[in-house]
Amino acid sequence: MSTVTITHRGEERVRGGHPWVYRTDVASVEASGGDVVLVRGSRGRAIGYALYSDRSEIAIRMLSGADVAPGRDFWRQRIEAAIRYRDALGIDATAYRLVHGEADGLPSLIVDRYAEYLVVQTLSQAMDRRLAEITGLLAELTTPAGILARNDPRVRLLEGLEQRVDALHGTVPERVMVREGRVTYEVDPWRGQKTGLFLDQRENREAATRYARGRLFDGFSYNGGFALALAPRCDSVLAVDISEDAVARIRANAARNALTNVEARTMNVFDELRELERTRARFDTIVLDPPAFAKNKASVRKALSGYKEINLRALKLLEPGGFLITCSCSYNVGEAAFVDVVSSAASDAHATVTMVEKRTQGRDHPILINVPETYYLKCLVLRKLD
Ligand code: SAH
Repeated sequence: MSTVTITHRGEERVRGGHPWVYRTDVASVEASGGDVVLVRGSRGRAIGYALYSDRSEIAIRMLSGADVAPGRDFWRQRIEAAIRYRDALGIDATAYRLVHGEADGLPSLIVDRYAEYLVVQTLSQAMDRRLAEITGLLAELTTPAGILARNDPRVRLLEGLEQRVDALHGTVPERVMVREGRVTYEVDPWRGQKTGLFLDQRENREAATRYARGRLFDGFSYNGGFALALAPRCDSVLAVDISEDAVARIRANAARNALTNVEARTMNVFDELRELERTRARFDTIVLDPPAFAKNKASVRKALSGYKEINLRALKLLEPGGFLITCSCSYNVGEAAFVDVVSSAASDAHATVTMVEKRTQGRDHPILINVPETYYLKCLVLRKLD
């Protein structure tokens, strides 16, 4: 059996419940990249089994204790448990996450369901080596019409893995129709952002329907996620995204759902908000769901000023009594920092603001309590009093 021995500090980390051991805490290696290894502590004690990478800074991703050797039954049971959990959630949609990596005991494995198709990502050497086995198990357990490996995320480069997209089982069409609540979308699993949709925001879109009314501004709309879910509650909707493709899909999705009050614009949200301020536009509901402004620690300062600017401008455009649903998916900007930046925007806007709800990613993207990296999405529902 391949073996990796870790340092005392690495052991402490694993004991604390974190499944990752960094390269700096690896003492010796008798394994090749991509192996499932037995992990030993500094005194030789067997700690458990793990995925091993010889390239990534994350050398070890723990899978199980020393008493559970990961064979075929192990993989099957973990996948089955992930599926059973999603079944128990009562999700009112045909698109959702079936396997969320570490939080399902399947580190670096992502599986998303889009109606009768599955989209898989294997984001470490050892999980990637198991792609065929995982695909076989998924086919057996869920009998999908097709399975697509969307293995083009850049993080794979850190593992020395290539970026590729292949249909591995059945056939996967260019367009898949899915339903989320009362909205029907056309999704492109081959080329869409992430695996096709921003599934982690599903429950926030649903929650936002409780507040939406009047004139809605949906900034960073992608293919209309919030705009389309909220449109039936609103008089008018302005959805803005910088991507022309995304805006074309907002229009097509609005038409498909017979929503006639949605206007979609290809614009930079920063510019659009400035322009709306100049023309003294006002809104009763505003959604801000930007991409991760802080992709790493070095960009946190700049990210904070970006979050500040859009939230400040949004609060100025909001009518008293109106709601601002504001999100950040930057792991590097924590919840406290995000709340801080939004409160400073509120005081600069001379607005009295209450926090009505503090939300995070949907329950199909669970947070592993000992792995702060898995808590990335913040979604605040704010009400402007005056
Ligand atoms: N709210 C969406 C997901 C948004 S993802 C949903 O619920 O599905 C972030 C989006 O912001 C992407 O579609 C990206 O094209 C867009 N984007 C990135 N920078 C932008 C900018 N400066 N102005 C407008 N849109 C931007």
